[in-house]
Amino acid sequence: MYAGEDVFYKKGFFHEVASMEAERSQRSTFNVPLNKRYQLIRESGGRCVLCGATAKDGVKLHIDHIKPVSTNPELERDPSNWQVLCNDCNRGKSNNCDIDWRE
Ligand SMILES: [Zn+2]
Repeated sequence: MYAGEDVFYKKGFFHEVASMEAERSQRSTFNVPLNKRYQLIRESGGRCVLCGATAKDGVKLHIDHIKPVSTNPELERDPSNWQVLCNDCNRGKSNNCDIDWRE
């Protein structure tokens, strides 16, 4: 059996599904375990390590991957690659910056 039209279309379909999966995984399906999240936020003093905002300022704190998971998937579950950022900093950072803001 040689790759005919039918196979070609199927391949195209699967490729599309695969790239959708990749896109979804870039947004990260992995969640930092809650106990680790708590520990990190406690260590940061409950502050965003970049702007210093706290939950009292009405921000939501996130665990950010210092080196983006999209370019460093192997670091997704590595605690040394996690830092506390507020919602705004996390969203503003995008995936192009890998500065470690922790002291
Ligand atoms: Zn911030």
